[in-house]
Amino acid sequence: MDHFPIFLSTRGQRIVVSGGGDAALAKLRLLMKSEAKISVYAADPAPEIEQWHHEGRLSLVARPMDYGDPICARLFYGANEDEAEDARTAGIALSCGALVNVVDNLADSQFITPAIVDRDPVTIAIGTEGAAPVLARAIKADLEERLPQSLGVLARIGKTFRKASYALPFGRARRDFWRDYYFNAGPKAIADGETAVRPALDALLGDHLNRTQRAGHVAFVGGGPGDPELLTLKARRALDEADVVIYDRLITPEILELARREAVMIDVGKEGFGPSTPQEHINDLLVEHAASGAQVVRLKSGDSTVFGRLDEEIDAVDAHGIGWHIVPGITSASAAVAAIGQSLTRRGRNASVRFLTGHDTKGFADHDWKTLARPGEVAAIYMGKKSSRFIQGRLIMHGADRQTPVTLIENASRPDQRVLETTLDALPAALEAAEMTGPALTFLGLAPRAALALAPTIPNQEFA
Ligand code: SAH
Repeated sequence: MDHFPIFLSTRGQRIVVSGGGDAALAKLRLLMKSEAKISVYAADPAPEIEQWHHEGRLSLVARPMDYGDPICARLFYGANEDEAEDARTAGIALSCGALVNVVDNLADSQFITPAIVDRDPVTIAIGTEGAAPVLARAIKADLEERLPQSLGVLARIGKTFRKASYALPFGRARRDFWRDYYFNAGPKAIADGETAVRPALDALLGDHLNRTQRAGHVAFVGGGPGDPELLTLKARRALDEADVVIYDRLITPEILELARREAVMIDVGKEGFGPSTPQEHINDLLVEHAASGAQVVRLKSGDSTVFGRLDEEIDAVDAHGIGWHIVPGITSASAAVAAIGQSLTRRGRNASVRFLTGHDTKGFADHDWKTLARPGEVAAIYMGKKSSRFIQGRLIMHGADRQTPVTLIENASRPDQRVLETTLDALPAALEAAEMTGPALTFLGLAPRAALALAPTIPNQEFA
């Protein structure tokens, strides 16, 4: 992030605009929504600017800007639609200590003006670092449609009620009250007119004061394979409401972004075979936070019921009488099989599929190799990279065909997803050559669907 968003107080501040044509008009329409004192310098100002000057909404000086003019200005806009004049005036403004923006010239601008959705006092600023103004406008249009006009009124009335809301204890109780206001009681009340809102707030506060505080709770949430769009709606809601999020190494930053900003984020990432947060410590953290009344989200990659040591954590929470529930997630086998266009089961080929782990707490994991070695068997092997030679050896020893297809999907569902197609025979060598550093799922008995190579690839980006 190069351009860091802030909301600048403009009350009584001076903002100077050089230029009097369309570019200046566009900026001025926006600036006049602020509380700033606006000065315009333009040799040939548009009639609208003269009109605004007469109405006292800005002050116009009908000549080119000169040295000393932008004195004490906070912001300066070069909107001359003339490169040389922009450069000249921007130089003067810089020497006066103003922050400079030159319209349509990112390189010479110190700040950029975002696309704005205005529900005063709720203001949403959208920026793309100047890269895609069209995209910013599309997002703005989308939000304009989605946010009711009454939002601003509700926020303004809500502001006058902040002190009264302090009757509720700080934290969750107060947050629940405001959530109830903005998304439930407020919109209902405003349908009967603005005057109905304040009494509704009083009634709502009384109602919330009578509530007993919600007890601490742990949600074991499956975070899916990495793509935030593969989170369930329930997972999103849990993240949105969490006081504390305790997450694993494979949870992607894009998913962590979705947690409530005030939430306490605790990383308990474990590296296979490597340094790890002891399980007992994770259990203690869950209990400690939930016992103090927090809504805890225990965020695990994929589905938390698959190779996630979930039971140990549930036992710990249970032992302290703390409430919990599981939110299922998309396990990496599901994401990986989708990536290669195959089914996990198929009529006539395999009526069952096994989920195996390459290693467990004691080292390489042992399995029913004899059954797995039979033709047509399909297995999804988690944590299978380091144990690939061991698995290959055991299967061949039990009579598996060396040409059995084996496919590894690294970083399934993420932008850096890679597919490695090989055979049981060539597995260790192919894996070594591929230098996979991300999490990978190994399919025994599945190759990518041949037709996939011909099908158009589906980009993984949000705005393709
Ligand atoms: N509960 C998780 C599995 C945890 S074990 C789930 O349901 O997916 C960790 C293993 O999961 C990794 O070693 C890897 O084999 C697999 N894995 C997790 N995320 C993955 C991803 N995005 N792509 C491929 N494999 C992944």
